[in-house]
Parts: sequence; C-alpha cells; structure tokens
Amino acid sequence: MPEFGKYTKELKKLIAEADHILLICHINPDGDAVGAMLALRRWIIHQGKNAAMISPNALQQFLLWMNGVDSIVDFHHNIEAGTRLISEVDLIIMVDFNSSSRMGKAEQLVLDSKAKKVMIDHHPDPSQLADLIISDVSRSSTSELVYFLVNGMEGEEFNDSEFITAVYVGIITDTGNFEHGYYTGDTMRTVGHLLDKGVDKEKIFNHIFSNFSPDRIRLKGFALHSRMVVHPDLHTAYIWLTKEDLERFRHVKGDTEGFANVLLTMKGIVLSVLFIERTGFVKMSLRSKGSFNANVLSRKCFNGGGHRNAAGGEMKGTIHDVVSHFETTLPTFRKELDEAAAEMNR
Ligand code: 5GP
Ligand code: MN
Repeated sequence: MPEFGKYTKELKKLIAEADHILLICHINPDGDAVGAMLALRRWIIHQGKNAAMISPNALQQFLLWMNGVDSIVDFHHNIEAGTRLISEVDLIIMVDFNSSSRMGKAEQLVLDSKAKKVMIDHHPDPSQLADLIISDVSRSSTSELVYFLVNGMEGEEFNDSEFITAVYVGIITDTGNFEHGYYTGDTMRTVGHLLDKGVDKEKIFNHIFSNFSPDRIRLKGFALHSRMVVHPDLHTAYIWLTKEDLERFRHVKGDTEGFANVLLTMKGIVLSVLFIERTGFVKMSLRSKGSFNANVLSRKCFNGGGHRNAAGGEMKGTIHDVVSHFETTLPTFRKELDEAAAEMNR
C-alpha cells in the first residue's frame, strides 16, 4: 500500500484527538474480525484511552476464550446499549469489512453518525464509508494490517501479549492455518515475530480449529457423503444443506466452517460452494483456486462479495431455488473455470 506512513500518522492523530472511540466489526465475526478489533483496542488502551467494541451479532463460541471479548457489545441482542454507544462516540473504526450492509442492524446508525470514521480492511473495492480508508488487499488479514499499523503508530514493536495473540488468531483464521487464502512473506515474517514473542500457537490452533462437537464431525461426513455435487467439466463442486439436515445434526453456528475448503482438495476442482438453508433465504460460502474470481461470481450471482478466492452471499428463496439459480448461472463462467483449472495443471 502506498504511503503507509501517511496512514499510520493520520490514524494516530484521529485516535489521539478522539474522546470516545468505537470499534465495530462485521456480522458473523470470524477470528480475523475479532482479532483485529481486540488487537487495535489493546494498543488504544496502552495509549491510556479506552475503546468500546460492537459486533453486529453474537460471537461464535470458539472465540470466547480471547481476552477482551467480554467487552464486545452484541448489537443484535443489546440494541439499546449499542445505539447509545454509537450516539456517544466521536470516532468509529470499522474493521474487516468493506460495505455498510455488513454492519447488520447497526448499519444506519453508523452511517448517520457524525463521528469521524475510519475503515481498516483487506477486501477489494472498499465503499467510501469513512474519512480515512486504510484498505490493503495485499494483507492476509485485517489483523496483519493492524499489526503493521500499530507498530507504525508505536514507532517500534508493540509487544503486548494480548495484542500478539489477537493478531495471530486473525492471521491463522483467514489463511486456514496457512492452507489457503492469501498470504505473503510479510505475513510469515509477522508470524515469525509473533512466535519469537512466545505466542501460544498450539493453544490458539486448538481453540480455533480443534473445537468441534461429535455432531459437527457427523454433519461433515453426511454433507460429503449425501449432499455433495461435483461437476468435473466445470471444475466445480458444491454441498447443499437443508434446514432439516442442520436440525438433524443439532447444528450450531460455525459447524459448517471449512466445508467448502474440503471440496477444493479434489483434483481438478477450482470452485466450491457451500449452500446453507436458513429461514426464507440461503447463505453461501464460495472458495476458489488460482485465477478464478469467486468474488465476481458471488456479486453477479448472489449479490454478495468477498475476496478473489473466498467470498460469500445470501439469496432469498428455498435451497432448491438458489441451487437451481446457481446451476443455471455457472456455465456462463465456463471459460474462467477452464482457465483456472488449466493453470492448476501447469
Ligand atoms: P465465509 O464464506 O467465510 O462466510 O466468507 C468468506 C468471505 O466472503 C468473507 O471474508 C467476506 O469477505 C465475504 N462474505 C461472506 N458473506 C458475505 C455476504 O453476505 N456479503 C458480502 N459482500 N461478502 C460476504
Ligand atoms: Mn478478514
């Protein structure tokens, strides 16, 4: 990102000038959203200030071990307190999202707020939602970006242990512990530093990735066995799960995390989609390999968005409506799918 120093200077100034700061992340926050928010808050606290935090809805259970999560206001379940918070602050820092709809029910209040606004994110094409937009798609995660911003503001390594843990959570979340996603030499140098500083990588890995119930493991087996469709000619595979399927395996939030990635381990597959039926709509997760742009497909097909290789969206209707819409649209991407698959074989 050009002029990184300019961004750190401006961010530092905005934080220094603010009396009441609010950090807000995206709905259904993942380890990166929460990690980035907690990491930045640690540094703000280190400055002798405080920062309130809002998540548009509840955190998943596997993140609840993190220090500081108790202070995150779940907007969906605390609309009054959340509304008051938004009205009181003079600086709002939006973390790990690029479009206002990702703030759920807090969206309009934040948009209407007179507070100064900052966006810190790594998704492509940020909406012009903030006075200061720090958007860097070359970062593995918003947490990695926060790591560099904080060290820039600090003028040296900020070695707080909660900060280090939160950054590590964000990086391993968005890269699937370096299995997918986008990461660079900078990411690995950051990770090297975090390990040097004693980050407890085993504990964190277990919290994030080895935290499943027997029901979840069975749901995964069922999904792969009975709900997987493969189109070898289109280099695409998907899984569809109905509401009844989810109920049968006593699904809890987060149980289907990672299902779409599994499909990409099949030879020749460059696009995978997971369709999950909710009440009146379907949520999808898309994953892709190489040049195939899941973000573009998600935008065109599902009014969604995301990154090139990891995107998502929502669509009204039953699972059968949505899957059939996908089946109809998919062949229009044949050329791009063929190209990405050819690259994989090089
Ligand atoms: P996941 O499949 O893990 O839920 O989401 C993958 C990525 O897709 C997220 O990091 C986020 O950038 C994006 N994403 C997921 N759901 C949506 C959505 O409904 N709308 C948009 N614009 N992006 C989404
Ligand atoms: Mn992220």
